[in-house]
Amino acid sequence: MNIKKTFRIVFIISLIMVFLSGIGLVNAATSSELRKQQSDIDKQIEETNSEIAGVKDQMTDQLNQISELNAEISTYQTDIDNLQNQIDTLTTQIDEKQKNIEEQQVKYDAQKEAFEKRLVAMYESGSVSYLDMLLSSDGLADFISKYYLISQLAEYDEELLQNIEDTRKQIENEKTELENAKNEIAASQSAIQTKQNSLTSTVNQKNAIVSNLSAEEKELQDKLEEFEQDKREIQAELAALSRKNPVEDVVAPSAAGYISPLAGKTKSNITTGYYGYANHTGVDFACPAGTPIRAVKDGTVVISKALKRPDGTYKSYGEYVVIDHHDGTMTLYAHMTPNSRTVTVNQTVSQGQTIGLVGTTGNSTGNHLHFEVRIGGSPVNPTPYLP
Ligand SMILES: [Zn+2]
Repeated sequence: MNIKKTFRIVFIISLIMVFLSGIGLVNAATSSELRKQQSDIDKQIEETNSEIAGVKDQMTDQLNQISELNAEISTYQTDIDNLQNQIDTLTTQIDEKQKNIEEQQVKYDAQKEAFEKRLVAMYESGSVSYLDMLLSSDGLADFISKYYLISQLAEYDEELLQNIEDTRKQIENEKTELENAKNEIAASQSAIQTKQNSLTSTVNQKNAIVSNLSAEEKELQDKLEEFEQDKREIQAELAALSRKNPVEDVVAPSAAGYISPLAGKTKSNITTGYYGYANHTGVDFACPAGTPIRAVKDGTVVISKALKRPDGTYKSYGEYVVIDHHDGTMTLYAHMTPNSRTVTVNQTVSQGQTIGLVGTTGNSTGNHLHFEVRIGGSPVNPTPYLP
């Protein structure tokens, strides 16, 4: 959470290290070299000032409170979405079961009719008192149980009756499963209601704080809100894609099979780490504009677009690309240079292929690559996947 503090600490440590490494050279270093070093450091700081760092610096207590409430809201919304998906799946299952039951019922009626005809035929030929037994029974089920008491059965009749009984049991099972699914739906719906209530109360809490914001804070808040909204939409879009093309064995978090999105950079070059959904959903690599960005693994491009406001200015991820690697993971590359994307949706890409260039479009204050790994649409810590 305390990114600002972390940054300061990292920065101070970096400065100390730079000074320590410079001690040996101190006598030899000219003032112009030192000035150059200083300007390099300044440049690095500027570049490190990526989307979240830049925004967090301007965060006031009130905005921090809102950010925390937003995290809660996101969790509620994700829970509600998941429950809704569960309901959708159950509804599909119920439709299938209903259809099954209808089909089985037709089969059952036909089997019963065939058996009744058989009974009449037997009665007319004067063999066995099946019909007497049927007439004295409480319905077919009772008859069947009585029928089984008779030891001498024609094989044909036994098979016929067994079929009727199997169909009846199948219908009953389907009906029980149907009832269970309906109960599950009711439970999910009541869980949604509970979450919805919590969501509403959190939104109210947040709105109360928002109404007290200064104009400057409000502007920043709107920007964050816009980013949050975009992130939610992207998450829903990617989650829907994952559901459409489910992967049975999602690859375990490991760098095996993945390369770095930037040549010559590894996880040790990360300039802003992953802080979870509400704060920072990926990792940043500060690096110069125009640096080629590579696909970390073979895959298919599922998103390649520029996020812009109606007035044409960049927002949120700016120019960004998402690749589905068909192993349960998707990777996201954001803030690319305007019009530098070289891939389009549905295009197959191979590992190492250049997909665009580093830039600072959207919610970003310096040139950097914002890189994410997503499973089922949700961001996970990308660090384990990076060499
Ligand atoms: Zn980032």
